[in-house]
Amino acid sequence: MQRILLALVLLVLAAPAGPVVAKPLVSDTRIGVHEDTTRFVLDLSEPVAWRVFTLPDPYRLVIDLPELVWNLPSELPPAKKGLVGALRYGLFSPGVSRVVLDLTGPAAVTQVQLLPPTDDGKHRLFVDLQPVAEAAFNDPQARLPIQSAEALPQAAKAPQVVPPPEIGDKRPLIVIDAGHGGIDPGATGVSGVLEKDLVLKYALELQTQLEATGSYRVELTRETDIFIPLRDRYAIAEDGGADLFISLHANIHPKASIRGASVFTLSEKGADSDAEAAALAAKENAADALAGVADSDDVAVILGDLMRRETMNLSKNLANRLVDEVGHEARLLKNTHRFANFAVLRSPTVPSVLIEIGYLSNTAEEEQLRSKKHRKAVAGAIVRAIDGYFSWQEALNRS
Ligand SMILES: [Zn+2]
Repeated sequence: MQRILLALVLLVLAAPAGPVVAKPLVSDTRIGVHEDTTRFVLDLSEPVAWRVFTLPDPYRLVIDLPELVWNLPSELPPAKKGLVGALRYGLFSPGVSRVVLDLTGPAAVTQVQLLPPTDDGKHRLFVDLQPVAEAAFNDPQARLPIQSAEALPQAAKAPQVVPPPEIGDKRPLIVIDAGHGGIDPGATGVSGVLEKDLVLKYALELQTQLEATGSYRVELTRETDIFIPLRDRYAIAEDGGADLFISLHANIHPKASIRGASVFTLSEKGADSDAEAAALAAKENAADALAGVADSDDVAVILGDLMRRETMNLSKNLANRLVDEVGHEARLLKNTHRFANFAVLRSPTVPSVLIEIGYLSNTAEEEQLRSKKHRKAVAGAIVRAIDGYFSWQEALNRS
Protein backbone atom coordinates (compact mmCIF):
# COMPACT_ATOMS: atom_id res chain seq x y z
CA MET A 1 0.00 0.00 0.00
CA GLN A 2 2.77 2.35 1.01
CA ARG A 3 4.51 1.58 -2.21
CA ILE A 4 1.41 2.44 -4.22
CA LEU A 5 1.06 5.71 -2.33
CA LEU A 6 4.69 6.54 -2.99
CA ALA A 7 4.22 5.75 -6.66
CA LEU A 8 1.19 8.05 -6.75
CA VAL A 9 3.12 10.85 -5.06
CA LEU A 10 5.98 10.43 -7.53
CA LEU A 11 3.56 10.41 -10.41
CA VAL A 12 1.99 13.66 -9.24
CA LEU A 13 5.41 15.23 -8.69
CA ALA A 14 6.60 14.15 -12.10
CA ALA A 15 3.55 15.51 -13.90
CA PRO A 16 4.22 18.86 -15.58
CA ALA A 17 1.86 21.72 -14.82
CA GLY A 18 -1.03 22.41 -17.19
CA PRO A 19 -2.94 20.06 -19.45
CA VAL A 20 -0.85 17.18 -20.70
CA VAL A 21 -1.33 16.02 -24.27
CA ALA A 22 0.41 12.70 -24.57
CA LYS A 23 2.36 12.37 -27.78
CA PRO A 24 2.26 9.07 -29.68
CA LEU A 25 5.06 6.76 -28.66
CA VAL A 26 7.44 4.81 -30.92
CA SER A 27 8.46 1.65 -29.11
CA ASP A 28 10.46 -0.13 -31.80
CA THR A 29 11.75 0.01 -35.37
CA ARG A 30 12.72 -2.87 -37.64
CA ILE A 31 14.04 -3.48 -41.12
CA GLY A 32 13.15 -6.69 -42.90
CA VAL A 33 14.27 -7.96 -46.28
CA HIS A 34 12.22 -10.34 -48.37
CA GLU A 35 13.44 -11.06 -51.89
CA ASP A 36 13.83 -7.61 -53.48
CA THR A 37 11.56 -5.83 -50.98
CA THR A 38 12.97 -3.94 -48.02
CA ARG A 39 10.36 -3.27 -45.31
CA PHE A 40 10.78 -0.59 -42.66
CA VAL A 41 8.47 -0.93 -39.65
CA LEU A 42 7.62 1.45 -36.79
CA ASP A 43 5.71 0.21 -33.71
CA LEU A 44 3.39 2.96 -32.47
CA SER A 45 1.16 3.46 -29.43
CA GLU A 46 -1.66 4.89 -31.55
CA PRO A 47 -2.57 5.52 -35.18
CA VAL A 48 -0.87 8.58 -36.65
CA ALA A 49 -0.92 10.58 -39.88
CA TRP A 50 2.07 10.03 -42.17
CA ARG A 51 3.72 11.33 -45.33
CA VAL A 52 6.35 9.39 -47.26
CA PHE A 53 8.58 10.55 -50.13
CA THR A 54 11.96 9.92 -51.69
CA LEU A 55 14.78 12.39 -52.42
CA PRO A 56 17.75 12.23 -54.80
CA ASP A 57 21.41 13.23 -54.29
CA PRO A 58 21.86 11.22 -52.14
CA TYR A 59 19.06 8.65 -52.40
CA ARG A 60 16.83 9.02 -49.35
CA LEU A 61 13.43 7.97 -48.05
CA VAL A 62 11.72 10.46 -45.76
CA ILE A 63 8.84 9.60 -43.41
CA ASP A 64 7.13 12.57 -41.76
CA LEU A 65 4.97 11.95 -38.71
CA PRO A 66 3.37 14.03 -35.97
CA GLU A 67 5.66 14.90 -33.08
CA LEU A 68 6.52 11.58 -31.41
CA VAL A 69 8.23 10.34 -28.32
CA TRP A 70 11.03 7.90 -29.24
CA ASN A 71 11.15 5.21 -26.61
CA LEU A 72 13.23 2.57 -28.34
CA PRO A 73 14.44 -0.52 -26.48
CA SER A 74 17.97 -0.23 -27.80
CA GLU A 75 20.03 1.44 -30.45
CA LEU A 76 18.48 1.75 -33.88
CA PRO A 77 18.57 -1.24 -36.22
CA PRO A 78 22.00 -1.95 -37.64
CA ALA A 79 22.86 0.25 -40.57
CA LYS A 80 22.95 -1.42 -43.96
CA LYS A 81 20.12 -3.84 -44.42
CA GLY A 82 18.50 -4.36 -47.79
CA LEU A 83 18.13 -0.96 -49.40
CA VAL A 84 18.80 0.91 -46.16
CA GLY A 85 22.29 2.29 -45.62
CA ALA A 86 21.64 4.35 -42.49
CA LEU A 87 18.76 5.65 -40.41
CA ARG A 88 18.11 8.83 -38.44
CA TYR A 89 15.09 10.19 -36.60
CA GLY A 90 14.15 13.23 -34.57
CA LEU A 91 12.22 16.45 -34.42
CA PHE A 92 12.22 18.17 -37.81
CA SER A 93 10.11 21.24 -37.10
CA PRO A 94 7.56 22.15 -34.44
CA GLY A 95 4.92 19.41 -34.54
CA VAL A 96 6.66 17.22 -37.11
CA SER A 97 8.94 14.26 -36.37
CA ARG A 98 10.93 12.77 -39.22
CA VAL A 99 12.67 9.52 -40.08
CA VAL A 100 15.30 9.61 -42.83
CA LEU A 101 16.61 6.40 -44.39
CA ASP A 102 19.72 6.71 -46.54
CA LEU A 103 19.17 4.35 -49.46
CA THR A 104 21.89 2.33 -51.09
CA GLY A 105 20.44 2.97 -54.54
CA PRO A 106 17.41 4.29 -56.43
CA ALA A 107 14.23 2.78 -54.98
CA ALA A 108 10.47 3.28 -55.09
CA VAL A 109 7.88 3.03 -52.34
CA THR A 110 5.59 0.14 -53.32
CA GLN A 111 3.37 0.09 -50.25
CA VAL A 112 2.68 2.06 -47.07
CA GLN A 113 0.21 0.80 -44.49
CA LEU A 114 -0.79 1.52 -40.94
CA LEU A 115 -2.00 -1.76 -39.48
CA PRO A 116 -4.60 -1.90 -36.68
CA PRO A 117 -3.33 -3.01 -33.29
CA THR A 118 -2.47 -6.64 -32.66
CA ASP A 119 -2.65 -8.45 -29.31
CA ASP A 120 0.19 -6.35 -27.93
CA GLY A 121 -1.83 -3.18 -28.58
CA LYS A 122 0.76 -1.77 -30.99
CA HIS A 123 -0.10 -0.08 -34.25
CA ARG A 124 2.37 -0.80 -37.02
CA LEU A 125 3.35 1.52 -39.83
CA PHE A 126 5.30 -0.17 -42.58
CA VAL A 127 6.90 1.15 -45.75
CA ASP A 128 7.98 -1.22 -48.53
CA LEU A 129 10.77 -0.31 -50.95
CA GLN A 130 11.93 -1.94 -54.12
CA PRO A 131 14.90 -1.06 -56.30
CA VAL A 132 14.09 0.82 -59.51
CA ALA A 133 16.12 2.14 -62.43
CA GLU A 134 17.67 5.58 -62.08
CA ALA A 135 15.33 7.04 -64.72
CA ALA A 136 12.22 5.77 -62.91
CA PHE A 137 13.52 7.19 -59.65
CA ASN A 138 14.12 10.58 -61.21
CA ASP A 139 10.60 10.82 -62.64
CA PRO A 140 9.09 13.69 -60.61
CA GLN A 141 5.71 11.91 -60.59
CA ALA A 142 7.27 8.94 -58.85
CA ARG A 143 8.70 11.17 -56.18
CA LEU A 144 5.43 12.84 -55.14
CA PRO A 145 4.64 12.27 -51.48
CA ILE A 146 2.27 9.46 -50.54
CA GLN A 147 0.22 10.32 -47.48
CA SER A 148 -2.43 9.14 -45.09
CA ALA A 149 -6.05 10.26 -45.46
CA GLU A 150 -5.64 12.27 -42.30
CA ALA A 151 -3.44 15.25 -43.10
CA LEU A 152 -0.16 15.82 -41.33
CA PRO A 153 0.67 19.34 -40.23
CA GLN A 154 2.84 21.00 -42.89
CA ALA A 155 6.46 21.02 -41.85
CA ALA A 156 6.40 24.68 -40.90
CA LYS A 157 9.61 26.62 -41.01
CA ALA A 158 10.70 27.33 -37.49
CA PRO A 159 9.10 30.76 -37.10
CA GLN A 160 12.13 32.20 -35.47
CA VAL A 161 12.47 35.92 -35.46
CA VAL A 162 14.66 38.10 -33.31
CA PRO A 163 12.41 40.44 -31.31
CA PRO A 164 13.13 44.10 -32.10
CA PRO A 165 15.17 45.96 -29.48
CA GLU A 166 13.43 48.11 -26.93
CA ILE A 167 13.40 51.75 -27.95
CA GLY A 168 16.76 53.28 -27.16
CA ASP A 169 18.49 49.92 -26.76
CA LYS A 170 21.53 50.33 -29.00
CA ARG A 171 23.44 47.34 -27.67
CA PRO A 172 24.94 45.05 -30.31
CA LEU A 173 22.97 41.91 -31.15
CA ILE A 174 24.86 38.62 -31.05
CA VAL A 175 23.28 35.50 -32.52
CA ILE A 176 24.66 32.22 -31.20
CA ASP A 177 24.10 29.13 -33.28
CA ALA A 178 24.28 25.71 -31.63
CA GLY A 179 25.16 23.42 -34.54
CA HIS A 180 22.91 20.55 -35.67
CA GLY A 181 19.79 19.55 -33.67
CA GLY A 182 16.70 17.39 -33.91
CA ILE A 183 17.04 14.80 -36.63
CA ASP A 184 20.65 15.87 -37.29
CA PRO A 185 22.75 14.76 -34.29
CA GLY A 186 26.13 15.91 -35.65
CA ALA A 187 29.16 13.97 -34.46
CA THR A 188 29.05 11.28 -31.76
CA GLY A 189 31.68 11.32 -29.02
CA VAL A 190 33.63 8.38 -27.63
CA SER A 191 31.32 8.32 -24.58
CA GLY A 192 28.26 8.52 -26.79
CA VAL A 193 27.64 12.26 -26.24
CA LEU A 194 26.05 13.90 -29.28
CA GLU A 195 27.49 17.08 -30.77
CA LYS A 196 24.02 18.65 -30.96
CA ASP A 197 23.48 18.26 -27.19
CA LEU A 198 26.97 19.34 -26.21
CA VAL A 199 27.10 22.51 -28.32
CA LEU A 200 23.63 23.56 -27.11
CA LYS A 201 24.99 23.57 -23.56
CA TYR A 202 27.90 25.77 -24.70
CA ALA A 203 25.50 28.09 -26.53
CA LEU A 204 23.31 28.48 -23.43
CA GLU A 205 26.35 29.11 -21.22
CA LEU A 206 27.68 31.69 -23.67
CA GLN A 207 24.29 33.40 -23.72
CA THR A 208 24.22 33.53 -19.91
CA GLN A 209 27.70 35.02 -19.70
CA LEU A 210 27.14 37.54 -22.51
CA GLU A 211 23.86 38.71 -20.98
CA ALA A 212 25.53 39.02 -17.59
CA THR A 213 27.82 41.73 -19.00
CA GLY A 214 24.76 43.86 -19.75
CA SER A 215 26.49 45.00 -22.95
CA TYR A 216 24.72 42.85 -25.53
CA ARG A 217 21.42 41.56 -26.80
CA VAL A 218 21.73 37.82 -27.33
CA GLU A 219 19.62 35.39 -29.36
CA LEU A 220 20.02 31.69 -30.02
CA THR A 221 19.11 30.06 -33.34
CA ARG A 222 17.76 27.16 -31.29
CA GLU A 223 17.16 26.64 -27.59
CA THR A 224 15.86 23.09 -27.90
CA ASP A 225 16.70 19.87 -29.70
CA ILE A 226 15.25 20.85 -33.06
CA PHE A 227 16.46 20.84 -36.64
CA ILE A 228 17.01 24.18 -38.38
CA PRO A 229 18.15 24.37 -42.02
CA LEU A 230 21.56 25.99 -42.47
CA ARG A 231 20.17 28.88 -44.44
CA ASP A 232 17.59 29.72 -41.75
CA ARG A 233 20.36 29.88 -39.18
CA TYR A 234 22.14 32.83 -40.69
CA ALA A 235 18.86 34.31 -41.93
CA ILE A 236 17.86 34.68 -38.28
CA ALA A 237 21.00 36.78 -37.78
CA GLU A 238 20.57 38.75 -41.00
CA ASP A 239 16.89 39.51 -40.55
CA GLY A 240 17.47 40.53 -36.95
CA GLY A 241 20.26 42.91 -38.02
CA ALA A 242 22.79 41.04 -35.90
CA ASP A 243 26.28 42.43 -35.32
CA LEU A 244 27.86 38.99 -34.91
CA PHE A 245 26.99 35.38 -35.69
CA ILE A 246 28.81 32.63 -33.84
CA SER A 247 28.24 28.99 -34.75
CA LEU A 248 29.37 26.34 -32.26
CA HIS A 249 30.42 22.83 -33.29
CA ALA A 250 32.56 19.91 -32.14
CA ASN A 251 34.65 17.76 -34.42
CA ILE A 252 35.71 14.15 -34.79
CA HIS A 253 38.80 12.70 -36.44
CA PRO A 254 39.67 9.12 -37.44
CA LYS A 255 42.96 9.60 -35.59
CA ALA A 256 42.02 9.49 -31.91
CA SER A 257 45.11 11.44 -30.83
CA ILE A 258 44.01 14.60 -32.64
CA ARG A 259 42.66 17.27 -30.30
CA GLY A 260 42.31 21.02 -29.96
CA ALA A 261 39.90 23.84 -30.67
CA SER A 262 39.87 25.78 -33.92
CA VAL A 263 38.16 28.83 -35.36
CA PHE A 264 36.88 29.14 -38.92
CA THR A 265 35.81 31.98 -41.15
CA LEU A 266 34.39 31.72 -44.64
CA SER A 267 36.99 31.21 -47.32
CA GLU A 268 37.33 33.87 -49.96
CA LYS A 269 36.34 32.67 -53.40
CA GLY A 270 35.68 29.24 -51.98
CA ALA A 271 39.36 28.37 -51.52
CA ASP A 272 39.81 26.29 -48.39
CA SER A 273 42.90 26.77 -46.27
CA ASP A 274 43.62 23.03 -46.41
CA ALA A 275 42.08 19.73 -47.43
CA GLU A 276 40.97 18.90 -43.92
CA ALA A 277 39.17 22.22 -43.55
CA ALA A 278 37.44 21.54 -46.86
CA ALA A 279 36.36 18.09 -45.71
CA LEU A 280 35.07 19.52 -42.44
CA ALA A 281 33.02 22.17 -44.24
CA ALA A 282 31.58 19.50 -46.53
CA LYS A 283 30.60 17.45 -43.49
CA GLU A 284 28.97 20.39 -41.68
CA ASN A 285 27.26 21.49 -44.90
CA ALA A 286 25.65 18.06 -45.24
CA ALA A 287 23.33 18.82 -42.31
CA ASP A 288 20.38 19.69 -44.55
CA ALA A 289 20.78 16.55 -46.65
CA LEU A 290 21.02 14.43 -43.50
CA ALA A 291 17.73 15.90 -42.32
CA GLY A 292 15.97 15.08 -45.57
CA VAL A 293 15.74 18.63 -46.88
CA ALA A 294 15.17 18.53 -50.61
CA ASP A 295 16.74 21.70 -51.84
CA SER A 296 20.21 22.06 -50.49
CA ASP A 297 21.44 23.50 -53.78
CA ASP A 298 22.28 26.86 -52.35
CA VAL A 299 24.65 25.12 -49.99
CA ALA A 300 26.88 24.37 -52.95
CA VAL A 301 26.94 27.92 -54.25
CA ILE A 302 30.12 29.79 -53.62
CA LEU A 303 29.44 33.33 -52.61
CA GLY A 304 33.04 34.40 -52.14
CA ASP A 305 32.81 37.33 -54.52
CA LEU A 306 29.52 38.53 -53.14
CA MET A 307 30.78 38.49 -49.62
CA ARG A 308 31.41 42.03 -48.64
CA ARG A 309 35.06 42.67 -48.03
CA GLU A 310 34.29 44.51 -44.83
CA THR A 311 32.23 41.67 -43.37
CA MET A 312 35.04 39.30 -44.20
CA ASN A 313 37.64 41.48 -42.50
CA LEU A 314 35.50 41.88 -39.40
CA SER A 315 34.97 38.11 -39.23
CA LYS A 316 38.73 37.57 -39.42
CA ASN A 317 39.36 40.16 -36.75
CA LEU A 318 37.00 38.38 -34.35
CA ALA A 319 38.46 34.99 -35.29
CA ASN A 320 41.97 36.15 -34.35
CA ARG A 321 40.72 37.43 -31.01
CA LEU A 322 38.94 34.12 -30.39
CA VAL A 323 42.09 32.15 -31.12
CA ASP A 324 43.96 34.34 -28.63
CA GLU A 325 41.41 34.10 -25.83
CA VAL A 326 40.28 30.50 -26.28
CA GLY A 327 43.98 29.58 -26.45
CA HIS A 328 44.32 30.65 -22.82
CA GLU A 329 41.66 28.16 -21.74
CA ALA A 330 41.91 25.25 -24.12
CA ARG A 331 44.36 23.45 -26.29
CA LEU A 332 44.32 24.69 -29.88
CA LEU A 333 44.90 22.93 -33.14
CA LYS A 334 48.20 23.86 -34.76
CA ASN A 335 46.98 26.06 -37.56
CA THR A 336 44.01 27.32 -35.69
CA HIS A 337 42.35 30.05 -37.67
CA ARG A 338 41.36 28.38 -40.90
CA PHE A 339 39.16 29.13 -43.86
CA ALA A 340 36.54 26.92 -45.43
CA ASN A 341 33.35 27.11 -47.36
CA PHE A 342 30.85 26.68 -44.53
CA ALA A 343 27.26 27.23 -45.64
CA VAL A 344 26.31 28.63 -42.25
CA LEU A 345 28.89 31.46 -42.53
CA ARG A 346 27.60 32.90 -45.77
CA SER A 347 25.90 36.05 -44.61
CA PRO A 348 27.29 38.93 -46.69
CA THR A 349 26.31 41.42 -43.98
CA VAL A 350 26.83 39.78 -40.58
CA PRO A 351 30.42 39.04 -39.49
CA SER A 352 30.39 35.29 -38.82
CA VAL A 353 32.70 32.72 -37.29
CA LEU A 354 32.45 29.02 -36.57
CA ILE A 355 34.16 27.57 -33.52
CA GLU A 356 35.00 23.87 -33.34
CA ILE A 357 35.32 23.57 -29.56
CA GLY A 358 37.38 20.38 -29.77
CA TYR A 359 37.43 16.72 -30.79
CA LEU A 360 34.84 14.27 -29.53
CA SER A 361 36.98 11.43 -30.88
CA ASN A 362 39.75 12.14 -28.36
CA THR A 363 38.90 10.51 -25.01
CA ALA A 364 40.62 13.11 -22.81
CA GLU A 365 39.30 16.08 -24.74
CA GLU A 366 35.77 14.69 -24.92
CA GLU A 367 35.73 14.28 -21.14
CA GLN A 368 36.99 17.82 -20.72
CA LEU A 369 34.40 19.19 -23.14
CA ARG A 370 31.62 17.55 -21.13
CA SER A 371 32.74 19.25 -17.90
CA LYS A 372 30.95 22.32 -16.61
CA LYS A 373 34.27 23.89 -15.64
CA HIS A 374 35.59 23.76 -19.17
CA ARG A 375 32.30 24.97 -20.60
CA LYS A 376 32.37 28.03 -18.35
CA ALA A 377 36.02 28.70 -19.16
CA VAL A 378 35.53 28.47 -22.94
CA ALA A 379 32.41 30.64 -22.81
CA GLY A 380 34.35 33.17 -20.72
CA ALA A 381 37.12 33.25 -23.32
CA ILE A 382 34.61 33.85 -26.12
CA VAL A 383 33.06 36.71 -24.11
CA ARG A 384 36.49 38.34 -23.69
CA ALA A 385 37.13 38.04 -27.43
CA ILE A 386 33.76 39.64 -28.18
CA ASP A 387 34.39 42.42 -25.64
CA GLY A 388 37.75 43.08 -27.31
CA TYR A 389 36.17 43.14 -30.74
CA PHE A 390 33.54 45.71 -29.81
CA SER A 391 36.03 47.87 -27.89
CA TRP A 392 38.17 47.93 -31.02
CA GLN A 393 35.14 48.89 -33.11
CA GLU A 394 34.23 51.69 -30.72
CA ALA A 395 37.78 52.99 -30.81
CA LEU A 396 37.67 52.95 -34.62
CA ASN A 397 34.39 54.84 -34.66
CA ARG A 398 35.76 57.49 -32.33
CA SER A 399 38.89 58.10 -34.34
ZN1 LIG B 1 29.11 20.15 -36.45
